[in-house]
Amino acid sequence: MSQPIGGYDASSASASIAVSARGLSKHYGSGASIVRALDGVDVDFAQGQFTAIMGPSGSGKSTLMHLLAGLDSATSGHAFIGSTDVTSLNDDQLTTLRRDRVGFVFQSFNLLPMFNAEQNILLPLTLANKKVGKEDRDWLNTLAPTLGLTERLDHRPSELSGGQQQRVAIARALIARPEVVFADEPTGNLDSRSGSEVLAFLRQSVRELGRTIIMVTHDPAAAAYADRVVLIADGKIAGDIKDPTPESVLAGLDALRNFDATAVRSGERG
Ligand code: ADP
Repeated sequence: MSQPIGGYDASSASASIAVSARGLSKHYGSGASIVRALDGVDVDFAQGQFTAIMGPSGSGKSTLMHLLAGLDSATSGHAFIGSTDVTSLNDDQLTTLRRDRVGFVFQSFNLLPMFNAEQNILLPLTLANKKVGKEDRDWLNTLAPTLGLTERLDHRPSELSGGQQQRVAIARALIARPEVVFADEPTGNLDSRSGSEVLAFLRQSVRELGRTIIMVTHDPAAAAYADRVVLIADGKIAGDIKDPTPESVLAGLDALRNFDATAVRSGERG
């Protein structure tokens, strides 16, 4: 079989695996009208890495992220967070997993307007009925300067720019020290300058604070902030780029035009 685009092999990476998928599929409908939103995906995401999932519209990026995060159920296959098989959990277990082990950043910032930035950041702890202890305060005091929020903690969302609001949302996603943060088009609602800032802060959270982030994006410039880009086409992993640049991501996307998912499915490729 030919090398995937980029030729990056995560299984040889020395870091431990934070999130993975094995034979992960999501199909809609059946027979001739079946839609293979995700089709037998095997992929590993290393701890302490910033990975972008990229591909054309409708390629299965959101489906992959939703299945990995336990937000949607698989048709077949397995998704793991650490050693936990997310696909085997019941609804209550999924709620606990999402609350305690996963952080989310969405395109819309979803901050509570009546709370200030600090109260919004601490919300996951408050909702889990956890007392905000010294360790949490120390972590907040590390997150705030890393995300450029120190002077803004007593501001309400309406007093913050879009970029600042998204940085508050990132701090909120990180406050409970989740094993992984899933970010879904986090810069989709931001102008390019604020978007770049947010991406730089995401990268900093990984490099300086040792966090693990998996981001879905359709923007090559955004993907280039990541340590690695996983390319997806027609519900299949179609490439893997280490230390991406906007140019290498664009070249990878270009190569996807020649990617034949049908051939991969029947093992004819390569
Ligand atoms: P992306 O995030 O890359 O744009 P998605 O993961 O949203 O792609 O969708 C992958 C494919 O699955 C698309 O063809 C989409 O139309 C299809 N799809 C997603 N959700 C549903 C659904 N609820 N019913 C039928 N098809 C769906």
